[in-house]
Amino acid sequence: MKISVPLFATALLLLSHWSPSLQAANRVVDDRAIADETNTSEWLAYGRTHSEQRFSPLAQINADNVHQLKVDWFLDLPRDSALVATPLLVDGILYFVGQVNVIRAVDATTGSLLWEHDPQVGKEVGQRPKAGWFHNRGLSFYKGKVFAATWDGRLIALDAKTGRRIWSTRTFGLDQPLYITGAPKAFKDKVVIGNGGTEHGPSRGFVTAYHADTGKEAWKFHIVPGNPADGFENAAMEMAAKTWTGEWWKHGGGGNPWHGLTYDPDLDTLYIGTGNGSPWNRKVRSPEGGDNLFLSSIVALDPDTGAYRWHYQTTPGESWDFNSNMDMVLADLTLNGKPVKGLLHAPKNGFFYVIDRTTGKLISAEPFVKTTWATHIDLSTGRPIEVPGARYESGSARVSPTPAGAHNWHAMSFNPITGLVYLPTIHSSVTYSDRGIDPRSWRSVPFQGGMAVSSSRYGLETGKAYPASLQAWDPVAQKPVWVVPQDNNWNAGTLTTGGHLVFQGHANGNFVAYDARDGQERWKIDLGLGISAPAITYQIKGRQYVTLLVGFGGSAAGMGGSGGLGWSYGIHTRRLVAFSLEGNQTLPSQPPPFFPQPLDPPAFKIDQRLAKIGSGLYGLCGYCHGGGVVAGGMAPDLRASPIPLVDALFEQVMRKGSRVHRGMPAFAAFTDHHLKALQHYIRSQARRTAPSETSRQ
Ligand code: CA
Repeated sequence: MKISVPLFATALLLLSHWSPSLQAANRVVDDRAIADETNTSEWLAYGRTHSEQRFSPLAQINADNVHQLKVDWFLDLPRDSALVATPLLVDGILYFVGQVNVIRAVDATTGSLLWEHDPQVGKEVGQRPKAGWFHNRGLSFYKGKVFAATWDGRLIALDAKTGRRIWSTRTFGLDQPLYITGAPKAFKDKVVIGNGGTEHGPSRGFVTAYHADTGKEAWKFHIVPGNPADGFENAAMEMAAKTWTGEWWKHGGGGNPWHGLTYDPDLDTLYIGTGNGSPWNRKVRSPEGGDNLFLSSIVALDPDTGAYRWHYQTTPGESWDFNSNMDMVLADLTLNGKPVKGLLHAPKNGFFYVIDRTTGKLISAEPFVKTTWATHIDLSTGRPIEVPGARYESGSARVSPTPAGAHNWHAMSFNPITGLVYLPTIHSSVTYSDRGIDPRSWRSVPFQGGMAVSSSRYGLETGKAYPASLQAWDPVAQKPVWVVPQDNNWNAGTLTTGGHLVFQGHANGNFVAYDARDGQERWKIDLGLGISAPAITYQIKGRQYVTLLVGFGGSAAGMGGSGGLGWSYGIHTRRLVAFSLEGNQTLPSQPPPFFPQPLDPPAFKIDQRLAKIGSGLYGLCGYCHGGGVVAGGMAPDLRASPIPLVDALFEQVMRKGSRVHRGMPAFAAFTDHHLKALQHYIRSQARRTAPSETSRQ
């Protein structure tokens, strides 16, 4: 059955006395509304409110009765794969973004679709080269508009009632190797958005603010300085340039703010969490050393003008992909008997920071995993005390944490009742090596990218028996209060409530409620598919709902880094699921974990020389189809796909873009020789991993 969506929405408007769509017209979501911590009937912003605490005072569902939690309704999303977004709930309507930036509005009490907007990202990029992924972490809602940012670089304003586009603006040119996976941030009649791309070519990160009404640019702030010969955009860039050496601008520098935009209504300040270096290796980027401002920092800006106020750099001279893009939680704490306006931040580098957000001064920092790159943070200078050798000075170094981060974008939450932060943690180590890289001649290639250092042999953090954990972290004492070890990494962000609960979805498909006070498991349901998106909660007509998107996503899902779980593209149904105590639904069962069987026709003679060329070309493909052609579930496993085996089909998909609507870009610039090389690389990987490998060596 296929219902035309506009017709369907119109029918709803005509037929229903209580129409959520009509109600939304009267609901004014302004800064005061988004800052209101007492509003339990909605979830108005990415982190619920401007504070990003992801705490709801709701207690109808609580530690004592959560074992009765049942599915209230669900919406199957058969066209989606990677789902990582936080939905928004405004006046009875859920808004969420799915694969290839398709935005939907559904009735939050039934799950029925009200409207859908497809920004056609495939069509937008057309035959041009492109970078990045097809998932997105969220939307912003402000004064009747839904704001979305697309991976091709557009910021779009939609009419919340109809999904009709009001304006659309391009935040960077399609010729730039940048992408957007983050949620825009709307406040004070502006919308701010950043971008990612440090791994995809020479890249200079920036954030831009637009007028919410018109989409006209209000201001722009670059994260790193450009070529001094061109003049500096502002005094902050002039200051930052003093911390760079060599000809960094030829490499872009990086710092891309792809996540972690936070607005503070109390202090009327915007905080930007900034990215790692482009490339990662400072020997290439800034050969005489230097802190390289504002990489891996929190930068506080005037929200009206974008003017610099203060910064705190978590990883000076960043060299490990230790970006500081992770979300920032605004919390009022009492430290040594004094009230402090705290900013809580747990970036990739493994230290938990408490910063006084009125001044940017560091209050405390302690490691929440084993940090072998730095022993501690010197509180008098605010700087890490590095371990000699960790910068792969000798050509390689074994380090933890890793580019996956001790904590990544999976949101932490803060519960003001327990005073604890619920932190999804990854415990891993990796070997960095820049042997064979000549810092003088190395160049990043747009849309192919490069880090100028390899990271390999991912393993457990030294001395740890488990790859991940959920930690309840006391930001005042700066130590864990309880820890739940987990068997798989890449688990979802957390939600905490006044019902003494912490909710977290896991990569293994379990959705779990823990007691916020002691970490005891109070409820669990197996949803049959890896979970990467955080849950939200809200109350409508006296019923508390807990709702989340189910669909494994993000870089680890794309690269297959959390592989072996068997979440497969096209096999497991992606869903939006709402739970309540009065729910009485049962989810249709999912197929068991599925491991694609590589196709290995004996007639295919692999040319190793071509396969080697194909291996080089495959780089970008791995972000969706998996490292080494072993998919993690976000996109088809090419070893098992018949398409690369048929020249004409492969050409249709690769060059003509016949799967652009599904998120598979076209690579028009690839020659016949390129395609051949890729086909041979895919077959060689299929043969390596096929069950009959030994018989055919
Ligand atoms: Ca990065």
